[in-house]
Amino acid sequence: MMKPRIPAGPPPKPLDETELARVLAWQRRMYVFYGVAMAAIAGGFYTVLRFQETAWIRPALALMLVALMAAGAYVQFRERCPRCQSLLGRQSRFVLAAKCKSCGVGFPRRDGEDHAPRA
Ligand SMILES: [Zn+2]
Repeated sequence: MMKPRIPAGPPPKPLDETELARVLAWQRRMYVFYGVAMAAIAGGFYTVLRFQETAWIRPALALMLVALMAAGAYVQFRERCPRCQSLLGRQSRFVLAAKCKSCGVGFPRRDGEDHAPRA
C-alpha cells in the first residue's frame, strides 16, 4: 500500500480550469479504454470459439491481449499531477482520487461529472 506523502506546509494552489480539464480527460480516457478493452477481449474470445480450427487464431488472440496490456499501461501512466508531476496512474488504478496522494492538491468534480462511467 502506497503511503500518502502529503508534505507539511501551505496547501498547493488549486488546479485551474485547464489543469482540471486535463486530469478529468485522463479519467474519461481510462473509462473509454476500459470499455474498448472489454469489448475487444469478448470479441477475441468469441472469435477463438467460432474459428477454433484456424491455426493462427490463438496466437492472434495472445498478441491482441499483449497489445491491450501495453496500451492500458500507456493510457494509465501517461498523465501526471499538474502540481507535483507524480503519475496519476500510480495513485489509483482506475478512478481519479479526490486529491493527489503526493502533494494533496484536490481534483474536484464538476457537479457529479466523472464519478462513474457513462453509458
Ligand atoms: Zn500532486
